[in-house]
Amino acid sequence: MAPTARSSLALAEAAPRIDPEAIAFDVDGVIADTMRLFLEIAAEEYGIRGIRYEDITTYNVEDCLDLPGQVIEGLLRRLIYGGYRGDLRPLPGAPEVVRRIAGRAGSVLFVTARPISGPVESFLRRVFPDGAGGFELVATGSFAAKTEILKRRGITHFVEDRLETCFAVDREGIRPVVFAQPWNRQPHPFLEVQSWREIEELIQW
Ligand SMILES: [Mg+2]
Repeated sequence: MAPTARSSLALAEAAPRIDPEAIAFDVDGVIADTMRLFLEIAAEEYGIRGIRYEDITTYNVEDCLDLPGQVIEGLLRRLIYGGYRGDLRPLPGAPEVVRRIAGRAGSVLFVTARPISGPVESFLRRVFPDGAGGFELVATGSFAAKTEILKRRGITHFVEDRLETCFAVDREGIRPVVFAQPWNRQPHPFLEVQSWREIEELIQW
């Protein structure tokens, strides 16, 4: 796999532990296995098979997949506005770790750049039918608006899979934690995790 596995553990060991009240999370590609659903919708509704998860090597999928723009647009619209047959599912370990953070911090903050929160809100309610001890979802409608929310909430660390957003929050003094995905394998200077277990390791319990 990617060369980044090199440093993630070393970095994690060297990094200061994170206050559970001061960490927040992106949704797509961090707690939600959004690309898996993207591939399911492509296969089931468009008959597009043979694309592997690892083939998605850029965040803007049109840059790495050889599909007509209209098809990609349709797929993304489907993802954002819902109405697909499949289900958005959590990435392995995410529900347990979110629950543990909520138990310690009282609430967990999710910040998505999606324009509407609906499908993501129902995803979170499905994963945490009991509320998991508290979570809050903010849909900003833009990548740029994420930083402002994080600053206002006193967040020091933000787990994110889109490198450009990581650089943007870093410029504003919030430490990004890159959640490793095939589409963020470019070099970066940030703390990186490969899994929710590694996020758990970073928290000051
Ligand atoms: Mg994301």
